[in-house]
Amino acid sequence: MLTLNKSLYEEGDTCKKRMWLLSHEKKDEQEITLYEQMLVREGEEVLKLARSEFPKGILVEEANWNYCVKKTRELIFSDSPIIFEAAFEISGMRMKADIILKLRDNRYRLIEVKSGTKPNEYLTDVAFQVNLLSQSGLIVKRAEVMCLDRDRVYGDSTLFKRADVTDLIEPLLPEIQQNAPSFLDIINSDIPKPEYSSACKSCEFTPHCYSTNIEYPVYELYRGGKKIDTLLKMGVFDLCNIVDQIVLNKLQQRQVKCIKDRRPWYSRNIKSFLQSLAYPLYFLDFETIQPAIPMFEGQHPYDRLPFQWSCHIRHNTGDPLEHRSFLHDGSGDPRYPFIESLIETLGNQGTIIVYSNYEKTILTCLQKNFPKCDTPLEQIKDRLFDLLKFVREHYYHPDFHGGFSIKSILPHFEPSFDYENLTISDGLEAGAVFQKILHGDYDEAEKEQMMSELEKYCAYDTLAMVKILKSLESIDS
Ligand code: SF4
Repeated sequence: MLTLNKSLYEEGDTCKKRMWLLSHEKKDEQEITLYEQMLVREGEEVLKLARSEFPKGILVEEANWNYCVKKTRELIFSDSPIIFEAAFEISGMRMKADIILKLRDNRYRLIEVKSGTKPNEYLTDVAFQVNLLSQSGLIVKRAEVMCLDRDRVYGDSTLFKRADVTDLIEPLLPEIQQNAPSFLDIINSDIPKPEYSSACKSCEFTPHCYSTNIEYPVYELYRGGKKIDTLLKMGVFDLCNIVDQIVLNKLQQRQVKCIKDRRPWYSRNIKSFLQSLAYPLYFLDFETIQPAIPMFEGQHPYDRLPFQWSCHIRHNTGDPLEHRSFLHDGSGDPRYPFIESLIETLGNQGTIIVYSNYEKTILTCLQKNFPKCDTPLEQIKDRLFDLLKFVREHYYHPDFHGGFSIKSILPHFEPSFDYENLTISDGLEAGAVFQKILHGDYDEAEKEQMMSELEKYCAYDTLAMVKILKSLESIDS
């Protein structure tokens, strides 16, 4: 029999079919991406750090499930005041509590540790646990979420804030008591029907639910949100079938029209806009990590830490491209060498083309951390040109499928140029590889190999921008 845990319960709140598929899914290790592995490791590090604030706590060591439940029972009977990873199972539902504290009146405080920063995002999770603890005979007097605090800074005595959510979860308990047994029945029965909603957009199971005949599923509506929910409720699954059921904004109207007309749209003055770019053109891309636990002076939890940049330079129309790059070797703080090499490469004239406002955000963050570099970084920011914003305002093709990321639009502009052949094929993976370099996980040969893969990946991104701009320049508008 399959058991229900808090993560599955939360999925069931959105879509029972997804809950069912996840409960029956067996992911083998190779399928877990480097980025997912990094998240697991980071979650464990945050948990360890949280536990270190309760020196008297006793850990129910990781072992088989039945052992953990038995050991938890023993600790509770032996009056242990603080237990980490206490395991409970009752009526097919199971949980592990990050921290439980026994209070003087024999009631308990539950502390759920989260790597996130917003306590109210975890109310259902905590309510599921409080319900199960009460069914197991423990009275929970107070429930807390202990999560990372972005106001804390590297070197502070704690990086956490603790929020009392006891009153907030109270209204959720009756619903959980009612739903949990039926969710348990569902995962142990036949696959349920799909519950179509905007959540389908980020669900990996769309091939289980949407017909392959639908070329432009409605969840691809650009920034569709609630409009997607409304359309699905009305039985509209295909963007081609939108008539006047809902009010679309300008960009959504453009998307639907392009799909129906089966041809792209572009603004008239696309060429003259692009002619205003000043040479030399710098195509710039940053790679960063966003560590939950700050690693260097001045950093808060989740501050971005840039470690790599790539820059293709076109000195003049028709000139061959020059490529410059920086990649930190993982020994110490990468930020200052990153800034120094960037300022040196970008000089003081020419348009710097980036894709999104990501680079601008990182530069602003660096200005705060390195005030002595404020002026040159501000000058770099003044020269930025956001190609993503430009594409969004001036061009749309049905092949974009409602997305404007480089990967969404590149196949249209340059079909032969894809990321498939790269060992590292997205920014999240690049960050995960650099985290491994920082942690010293690779031997020298592996490190050299992975650094070369990082160089290839970041250079690919800036070359992709060169190709996109070239295609836009060639449009006869
Ligand atoms: S694609 Fe949508 S309906 Fe299908 S499982 Fe995912 S969320 Fe549910």
